[in-house]
Amino acid sequence: MINIFEPQLAYDELEAIREVFQSKWIGRGKRVAEFESAWAKHLHTTPNHVIALPCATDGLFEAMSLCGVWPGDEVIIPSIHFSGALTAILEQDGEPVFCDVDERTLNARLSDILKKVTKKTRAVVLNNYGGVPCDIDKIRAGLPEGIKIIDDAANSPASLLLDKPTSEWADYSVYSFDAMKVISTGDGGMLYCRSSRDAQLARQELYLGQSSTTGYDSHKARWWEFEIDFPGRRAIMNDVTSAIGLVQLKKLQYYVDRRKKIWDKYNERLSEIDELLLPPPIPNHIKSSYYLYWIQTPKRDKLAQYLKDNGIYTTFRYYPLHLAWRHKLVKLPNSENINATTLNLPLHCGLSDEQVDYICDKVKQFYD
Ligand SMILES: *Cc1c(COP(=O)(O)O)cnc(C)c1O
Repeated sequence: MINIFEPQLAYDELEAIREVFQSKWIGRGKRVAEFESAWAKHLHTTPNHVIALPCATDGLFEAMSLCGVWPGDEVIIPSIHFSGALTAILEQDGEPVFCDVDERTLNARLSDILKKVTKKTRAVVLNNYGGVPCDIDKIRAGLPEGIKIIDDAANSPASLLLDKPTSEWADYSVYSFDAMKVISTGDGGMLYCRSSRDAQLARQELYLGQSSTTGYDSHKARWWEFEIDFPGRRAIMNDVTSAIGLVQLKKLQYYVDRRKKIWDKYNERLSEIDELLLPPPIPNHIKSSYYLYWIQTPKRDKLAQYLKDNGIYTTFRYYPLHLAWRHKLVKLPNSENINATTLNLPLHCGLSDEQVDYICDKVKQFYD
């Protein structure tokens, strides 16, 4: 079976892990600090705005809490979005307000969001579908002041809008390194906070609410003592994961370049099929991470089964959340059409040119 996603982990990552094992410090330590610094640089910011996490979902939950979402507050969420973005709202007892998306880019536009803004709107949680940034610059400029923007950048670790990462326009951005993403550490994530105070608060909330440094780095005579300022959980990254992340980050641009080649090949070969809609061209002011490739066809289910029967695994990201949650009375026509027609084809660096050709051949055969 040709996988839809595949991690690229090899000898360099093994070497990095070996060094961590030999250091006898596998918990949160200097590798985590290095990875946070490197990620901060990647986002054109400083390490005091960036926190390494066990996964991006933890970042969504933390961001939702830092936004100050209280029971009854509304949070606007595009229906085509990762389920954890919704459960993060529910966890705060917030009210999710689903908005529609563009039928071809699968990203929410300013107009989709403005339709749902009320006096109770506290935040918006955006997605950058398939690695293509949404119009977060226009959304930031067009939203009433005081509404926070959470930028779910799990699809878009290397993406740029006007030469800047989308975090430029966000209050919070989250990144994922889970097994299916452009770079992978097994599981892992990063949270960016525009305010360094928020970042500091998050760091404390994600480590048991403790403020003082304990242990080896403490200058106190009794270094085992600590203070708990408020409740907190323990959601941190360790040095093993960070060592992998540091190696993966160095290869990020290389991965994106290879993904772009596959994307371009799909575009070129599948454009011959009249019945298929392909992703819209990527505008010049945008750099994508090429995380997902998507086609749209009324025969989606049959095509998916045909490809599976021919050893090609496909899927659809993301099943509309207004259908998954209790809001089936909301009508979001674009999201519902997308749900009926969209299919993601395999896109990862483990694909050979021959496999990409094979996939294109099979899609063509289906329509012959
Ligand atoms: C994968 C993904 C996440 C969750 O990432 P984890 O690290 O697995 O928690 C969140 N949002 C989007 C859009 C994703 O694709």
